[in-house]
Amino acid sequence: MEKMNELKKEILEATSIGVASHIDPDGDNLGSICALKRSLELFGKNVCLYIDDKIPSSYQFLPGIKESSKIEPGKEHDLFFALDCADQGRLGERVGKLFEGAKTRVVIDHHLTNQGYGDLNFIEIISSTGELLYELLSAMELPIDKQVATCLYTAISSDTGSFKYDSTSPRTHEIAADLLSYHIDLNEITINLYQRRSLAKTNLLMKAMENLKILEAGKIALTRISLDDLNNAKAEHSDTDGIVEFIRDIDGVDLAIFLKDSKRSGSKISMRSKGDIDASKIAMKFGGGGHKRAAGASFNGNLDQCQEAILKAVNDEINAGNSFN
Ligand code: 5GP
Ligand code: MN
Ligand code: MN
Repeated sequence: MEKMNELKKEILEATSIGVASHIDPDGDNLGSICALKRSLELFGKNVCLYIDDKIPSSYQFLPGIKESSKIEPGKEHDLFFALDCADQGRLGERVGKLFEGAKTRVVIDHHLTNQGYGDLNFIEIISSTGELLYELLSAMELPIDKQVATCLYTAISSDTGSFKYDSTSPRTHEIAADLLSYHIDLNEITINLYQRRSLAKTNLLMKAMENLKILEAGKIALTRISLDDLNNAKAEHSDTDGIVEFIRDIDGVDLAIFLKDSKRSGSKISMRSKGDIDASKIAMKFGGGGHKRAAGASFNGNLDQCQEAILKAVNDEINAGNSFN
């Protein structure tokens, strides 16, 4: 409570506020940053929104998302928010510097692996950053309108897999109910999040199915997409979103692993678990993080090296006693 009063005071006093996305931004992240920007603006504040990455087409409908600011190195903010960002590295280098240069740094996040790298840290292990942000805005009596509600609903819906994951609590549904009372366009959110896929993305999904390997007597599904695969399908990096969930859903699979050539350098690992195995524990071995059922990491090496390393790490985890159901 005291921390919240302090944040409210900082907001009241701030003349320049920065709000930033993480790299490879997802729905929870983009929904949360757009919600916070809009709410602070309704409250009369000047807000710079920073998104230093491509915005996936599914989220381009979010109110205010096109109003992001140019990154000016050395620009100082009174207050700077990192949302849904488990560690400072996930802000990326350029935005990370702006975060560091701010007078007061605020972290709002729901990742178990978040160590609290801000001056004011609000970290709760709940469904989504969107849910936590709703609680904070409500407690601080900051405005929520139809646009804020659209962004928060998108954030919560996307990180709960449309209220399917076991991180969804009674409170998550209460919040969703309240957000619906702002007369948000649920059909627009549903179509953008769950009922659209470009032909290029569809082709990429087919390539991923071609590359699929079923291991450990059906308990592990692994697939990968190289830069060549991406280019051949004329797809974008964010078009790999959804592949790991698709292979997770195969009957009998407890752990799904998706590997791709990173858009920066090296490889990127995504994991989903629906059994006992804690995907975040494996991700942390590679300096990554996330949650039990969804985690990821970067890997400094090519896809073959990455595949070998991840399968070894999974084996070690199983041998350590965290066996499958
Ligand atoms: P995804 O597989 O969708 O990229 O990410 C799943 C989860 O893992 C998300 O909660 C995300 O925050 C986390 N995650 C993905 N990549 C990384 C990473 O490189 N570092 C950390 N700390 N977390 C990650
Ligand atoms: Mn995220
Ligand atoms: Mn999240």
